[in-house]
Amino acid sequence: MTPAKATHQKTKLHNRDLVLKTIFEHQSVSRAEIARLTQLTRATVSDMVASLIEEGLVEEVGYGESLGGKAPILLSLVADSRYLIGLNLAQDKFIGAVVNLRGEIKETAEIPVDNSDGVQALEYVYQILDQLTQKGWHPMVGIGVGTPGLVNTQEGVVVNAVNLDWQDLPLAHLLESRYNLPVSVLNDSQATAIGEFVYGANHTSESNLIVVTIKHGIGAGILINGGLFQGDGGGAGEIGHVVVQENGSLCRCGKYGCLETVASTRAILQRAINLAPEYTNSELAKNPQNITLGAIEAACQADDPLARRVVSEGARYLGTSLANLISVLNIQKIVLTGDMACFGDLWLSSVHDAMTQAALTRMVQNTQLEMGTLEFKACILGASAFMLLENYSLLFMQPTY
Ligand SMILES: [Zn+2]
Repeated sequence: MTPAKATHQKTKLHNRDLVLKTIFEHQSVSRAEIARLTQLTRATVSDMVASLIEEGLVEEVGYGESLGGKAPILLSLVADSRYLIGLNLAQDKFIGAVVNLRGEIKETAEIPVDNSDGVQALEYVYQILDQLTQKGWHPMVGIGVGTPGLVNTQEGVVVNAVNLDWQDLPLAHLLESRYNLPVSVLNDSQATAIGEFVYGANHTSESNLIVVTIKHGIGAGILINGGLFQGDGGGAGEIGHVVVQENGSLCRCGKYGCLETVASTRAILQRAINLAPEYTNSELAKNPQNITLGAIEAACQADDPLARRVVSEGARYLGTSLANLISVLNIQKIVLTGDMACFGDLWLSSVHDAMTQAALTRMVQNTQLEMGTLEFKACILGASAFMLLENYSLLFMQPTY
């Protein structure tokens, strides 16, 4: 190919991806609207749309409102024209799902994960993917993995995941050669952020978003201008391992007093058990050995003083950390998700109060704090959507299955 032809080809592919992206971002959209949004000519848009229809990725779905002239034909993505697999390895079980292009879950598989070593954990990943790839969903175009720990997404390597006993594991490479599909690997909080951003309620109008996941661990995913911001080392948003309490408890990372040791579900549970002997007026404190997250939740509903104290204490630390994020990034929408969300308004309003107290008033006034809407599915959906957002040409590859 001559250089001029190669450049022409590149521009064409770029335009095609731009048109596809625009259709992906809308429930339905007309050719004229795509031209306006992408600043491509009407003729180029029509050409691209014709080829997308031919690929089976896009279809005409009816007529939009007329603005004086002929009513425009609306276009939409064909949701079931391609499938992806998303994996969430950050729960107490591994969960995988086959997902279509609209983020609808078609099939799931899960395996409970006990205290396994790294080899066993990888074996579980294979078992889930073996199941999901054999169910006959095609064309299958890729696998996205959300895993706990520090991840080098570019190389597809899990640098360090303490809970899974993985160090420098070339997960993407292993899965690519086993399943013959493109694979991307992301930190689970980052995957969750993409899931909420792309498929969650009310966030579509934002181009910047912070999503904080609070479970056993705590981590944030940061979206800037509609793209995931990972930082230079891939760890952007790892707020859980910043020390917030002097002389605090030992964290699983080796430091003392990290945010995780005071604001995670694990921390809340431990704190309730530790404080129980001080509370004679608490039902929850009567059987410290039976305290679970569910029990704390129920006790909160019943206004139990111990339960309310541990939940709002954890929330305060989190709120202060969010104030730091706000002052660095000034992103005005923050979504909270993960197991701590079960504490609802009591927790959310305590987080909000602490955040407001700790941040510059004028900045925090315009910051909205909300609960996520997708729960554990956010990670699965985000892991699979990430591949797509990074590389729409994935959809045009020869299907393997
Ligand atoms: Zn730590």
